[in-house]
Amino acid sequence: MTRNSHSIADRMALIDASGIRKVFDLAAKMTDPINLSIGQPDFDVPEPIKARAVEAIGQGHNKYTQTQGTGELRDSIAAACRDEFGWDDDRAYLVTSGVSGALMLAMLTMINPGQEVIFADPYFVMYSHLVHLAGGKCVMVDTYPDFRPTAEKFADAITDNTRMIILNSPSNPTGCVHTEAELRAIAEVAAERDILVISDEIYNLFCYDQPFVSMASIYENTLLFRGFSKSYAMTGWRMGWCTGPKAVVEKMTVLQQYSFVCAPSMAQAAGATALATDMSQQVAAYKRKRDMVVDALGEKFGMVTPAGAFYAFVPAPGGDATEFVKKAIDNNVLIIPGNVFSSRDTHFRISYATTDERLAEGLDILSSLA
Ligand code: PMP
Repeated sequence: MTRNSHSIADRMALIDASGIRKVFDLAAKMTDPINLSIGQPDFDVPEPIKARAVEAIGQGHNKYTQTQGTGELRDSIAAACRDEFGWDDDRAYLVTSGVSGALMLAMLTMINPGQEVIFADPYFVMYSHLVHLAGGKCVMVDTYPDFRPTAEKFADAITDNTRMIILNSPSNPTGCVHTEAELRAIAEVAAERDILVISDEIYNLFCYDQPFVSMASIYENTLLFRGFSKSYAMTGWRMGWCTGPKAVVEKMTVLQQYSFVCAPSMAQAAGATALATDMSQQVAAYKRKRDMVVDALGEKFGMVTPAGAFYAFVPAPGGDATEFVKKAIDNNVLIIPGNVFSSRDTHFRISYATTDERLAEGLDILSSLA
């Protein structure tokens, strides 16, 4: 019997983690699986970043920092933005507990019950759950079969109730990278109705075929999110940052004060070191892994070539992703069915963030199952 004192608030019914849980339940039975499901780099945090965090602990950087993040880290972020965007320093920056933290703050700060948030389908799962948690409504723009987020599709999705658009380039789960022309067209549509755009650029370093273009360089009404989790393999350090319209970032900062309080102090101390670290070798290695995936599965599976992040979103042979994933798991390869990221279940996501050897093994098996 459920005890009254253990009854759960209604809003939790809006969050449903069953899709991914089913996959992990299946995976739990596997011994030493070839795991192509993981959303984090297989390389470790570069040594100088680790050393700086350890040193920071020794130096006593173990206390609360300013809510918005240390001055040192925000100065480094501002300098990086000055280099990339030519911005002056009069912007608001907020250091967050990962991009997840920034997303949570933004949704709770910006969305009133019933308001609509537009994003591409397939999407990063957290978006739908956080929009629902804030009482908002998800309006998903179907981007199959090529995953191009065209401005026409976004324009059609806009109503009087639209609160924001979320973009994610490079994308999890498709690896799609928006072109400058696509971003300009979406910016025009958004500007017409004065709509805020959240640009989740957590994979910005992992962009293989063209220079990365940020929505923040195109559209002034952009709330930009960047992270340390993927770029520097710091997923467990819980670090991200955001900048954008001052009124919005300031309110998010107020909410952070009463929720996350601040990002971890020793991780913030190492953040400036991270921003100064050259990751081009790691990115080159991931480009090679991407090419391995395309060589093995591209033609055979009719896959769209992913231009960024470390995922490919591959049509499932037979058209039923859950069935194909079961087959893959029976053959010791762990992948994720598309219905975890989409209203469709026709594709599977493969993460190539693993060693070349394991990846090659996994690709051979998947190929043989087609
Ligand atoms: N956005 C996207 C698209 C992601 O894939 C992830 C991590 N899987 C996040 C945000 C959150 O990352 P973190 O909280 O570790 O910064």
